[in-house]
Amino acid sequence: MSRYELAPTPHIVAGQGSREVLGELAASHVGAKGKALLVADPGLEATGMIDEIRAVLGKSLGTVEVFTAFSGDPTVTQTDAAASVARRSGVEVVVALGGGSALDLGKAVAAIAGESRSAIDYELGTRQFPAKRLPAICVPTTSGTGSETTRTAVLTREDGAKSWLWGDAVKSAAVVLDPELTRSLPATLTAATGIDALVHAVEAATNRNANAANNLYAHAAIELVARHLERAVSHPDDIAAREGMQRAAMLAGIAIDNAGTGIAHNMGHAMGSLRKIHHGRAVGIAMLASFPWNTEEDDGRFAACGRAMGAKSSATGFADAYERLLRACGLKVSVADEFAGISAEELARQMARPENASMRASNRREASEADLCRLAERVLAQA
Ligand SMILES: [Zn+2]
Repeated sequence: MSRYELAPTPHIVAGQGSREVLGELAASHVGAKGKALLVADPGLEATGMIDEIRAVLGKSLGTVEVFTAFSGDPTVTQTDAAASVARRSGVEVVVALGGGSALDLGKAVAAIAGESRSAIDYELGTRQFPAKRLPAICVPTTSGTGSETTRTAVLTREDGAKSWLWGDAVKSAAVVLDPELTRSLPATLTAATGIDALVHAVEAATNRNANAANNLYAHAAIELVARHLERAVSHPDDIAAREGMQRAAMLAGIAIDNAGTGIAHNMGHAMGSLRKIHHGRAVGIAMLASFPWNTEEDDGRFAACGRAMGAKSSATGFADAYERLLRACGLKVSVADEFAGISAEELARQMARPENASMRASNRREASEADLCRLAERVLAQA
């Protein structure tokens, strides 16, 4: 048996209504007079969720500052601004409420607030994070990125390209999974984020780092998405479907934290650097474009994903079930509108950039320059 490692997972509290324990949980890290920074997705303002979570935290802590000055795909500048607030106010714990953007921003702030440097100084592992870091508590309101259980944060640089922070310092201390918080997520976002979770699980179970122990998380996540995603899209108030998707995203997050992703994430991130496209949709259609190239001569990994989806135990059985689910969720496969004027060569060049190299390298099948070009052509031409 080859060697493998499983990384520590954060303390996880899950279940309907579990947001009620957030105050006590935060106080257990910093004491009853503790100061918290609540990093919350500004899109949640209208739902009343930010006020509710602030009140829950306020019951058990001294002060709660709120930071909402960021957009989807948070930038380095926005991260630095949030870190300044944390330093100025002497914040001791960061609570991140929202989708992947809010969680990534919150985790990044907790990792860098101990010193006065910009987030960019730590990108791609160029510098050690400050020895003093703040605990981060992640409270996801979408079910997809798995950021709550990973040690990475994706930020957008000033030139629009994606950059990465990674390391144990970027991992959350605790996670609260309350499916009620995902109920207001619109169908298109439920679909795109849910497909992101599925692609995480499939890439972790099929790439070069895949191993039998980590597959327990990955295959369980695939099974949950196959069982719950369509229902969560069509019946947003179905709390069992929401709970299933929330668990799938968390388990898939653990799976990629241990094994990484692959070519679909390489393509998806490259696409997101060139044009505005939701990450989940980008990696979802990128995975579709990677068939049959990536499933050729399957050694049983993709067949096992097919079984986990309740489909035929073969690579083509998996690919067919995957495409059926992707389309059943209403995800738009064609990117002809968004990527008008972008050539396959340009996308392939972006896929070959250093910030996307680790995902290309971890893919099961080695991708040559010519392969990148063919995959780029395919994803741009899909209908
Ligand atoms: Zn992803």
